[in-house]
Amino acid sequence: MSIALDLDHHAHPARRADGRTSLVGLMKPELRETLRAIGLDEREAKMRATQLWNWIYHNGVTDFERMSNIQKGFRQTLAETFKLDRPEIVTEQVSNDGTRKWLFRFRDPLNPGLPPVEVETVYIPESDRGTLCVSSQVGCTLNCSFCHTGTQKLVRNLTAGEILGQILMARERLGDFPGGQRPDDGGLVPSGETRAVTNIVMMGMGEPLYNYESVKQALLIASDEAGISLSKRRITLSTSGIVPQIEPAGREIGVMLAISLHAVRDDLRDILVPINKKWPLKDLLEACRTYPGLSNARRITFEYVMLRDINDSDADARELVRLLAGIPAKINLIPFNPWPGTNYECSTSARIEQFADIVNRAGYASPVRTPRGRDIFAACGQLKSASERLSKKDRDALTA
Ligand code: SAH
Ligand code: SF4
Repeated sequence: MSIALDLDHHAHPARRADGRTSLVGLMKPELRETLRAIGLDEREAKMRATQLWNWIYHNGVTDFERMSNIQKGFRQTLAETFKLDRPEIVTEQVSNDGTRKWLFRFRDPLNPGLPPVEVETVYIPESDRGTLCVSSQVGCTLNCSFCHTGTQKLVRNLTAGEILGQILMARERLGDFPGGQRPDDGGLVPSGETRAVTNIVMMGMGEPLYNYESVKQALLIASDEAGISLSKRRITLSTSGIVPQIEPAGREIGVMLAISLHAVRDDLRDILVPINKKWPLKDLLEACRTYPGLSNARRITFEYVMLRDINDSDADARELVRLLAGIPAKINLIPFNPWPGTNYECSTSARIEQFADIVNRAGYASPVRTPRGRDIFAACGQLKSASERLSKKDRDALTA
C-alpha cells in the first residue's frame, strides 16, 4: 500500500516568462558577477553573494522578503530582478517502507514557453543514513537493455539549479531546514545525525557524465560548506562508463564514484550497457584504477544488477572478483527491479546468495542492496518521467 498526495496539479498556473533570472545553481563567482551587473560594487557583491548563498542553501528560503539581514529596499530590487526557483511538486508518494518519491515539474529556464518537464527524486531512509537519489537528465540517451529510464528518449539535460532544486525541495518536505516541519511519520533523521538527507546519489534518471557541467556545478554547491554542506564522501556519482569524463570528475568534483558494471565480459556488457561498445571493460577499468583520490578509504562502488541466467553464474562471480583485483572497490549487487515489457527476470534468492558468497569470500562485505520503495515504483532503474508514465494497471501488476 502507498499513500499518494496529489499536491499540485492545478494550484499553480504555468509560471509566466517574466525574464527574472534564478539565482539557484550559480557558483559564488557567477553570483557576484550577476550582482555586479545590477550595479553593486565588488565589495558589496561579495558580501551579498555570501548572504544569498546562506539564505538559499542553509536556510532554504525562497522569498527575498525573509532575508532579514538585507535592507528592505534592496530585497525589493532583488525580488524584481531575480527569483529563487524550485520545482513544483506534482505528486509525493510515501512507501510502506518509508521511501518517498516525488514527481517534480520544471519549466525550461531558457524557453519558458516550452512544455514543462518532469523528473523523479527518491528519498530512502535507513537506520544510519538518509539517501536522496537525484536525477541529472529527463530521460537518457543511453539505452541499457534492463533499465526503464533507458526506454525513454532524452528530453533534455537538467540545469545545475534544477538538480539542486530537487535537493532543496526534498529537504523542505523532510523538514531539514532550520525551523522546518518534519513529516508526521517521524523517524526520518538517522540516529546521530541532524538532518534527514545525509547522503546524495546521482542515481535517478539520466547519465550524469553526459550532463557534466551542470552536475559538477550542482555537486560543488551541494558539498560546499557554505552551500548545502554535505561531505564529498557522502555524495556518489553513478556512471554507466563515460570513460573520458571519469578522470575530470574525480579531479574537479571529487565525490565518490559508482560504476554500473553489470557484466564481466564485453560481449554481454555490449548488450546490457551498450556504451560498452564505445568504451569496453579494459578502458573502463583502467579509468577506475587511475581515478583521482582513490584509496582503501575512498573506494569505487561497482554496481551489478542480478539478471536471471544472464550474468549470475558462479563463473561470473569469480570473474568479477578477478577483474576488480587491485582496485579499492565495493560491490553492490542489485536485485533486478522488473518493469512492464522487460524480458529480464531477477535472479533467484538462492542464486544471489551463492553469487554473494563468492564475492564475500573474496573480501567484499554485505553486498546485496535491498530494493526499496517497490510499492511506489521508486526502486533503482524504475524511474521514468510522467510523459511516459505507466498505466495504473501495469503498476498494480508489478506491485501485487
Ligand atoms: N545512468 C547512471 C545512473 C542512474 S541508474 C548509471 O547508469 O549508472 C542507477 C543504477 O540503477 C545503475 O547502476 C543502473 O544500472 C541500475 N538500474 C537500472 N535499471 C535497473 C533495474 N531495472 N533494476 C535494478 N537496477 C537498475
Ligand atoms: Fe541511462 Fe543509467 Fe538507465 Fe543506462 S542504466 S539507460 S545510463 S539511466
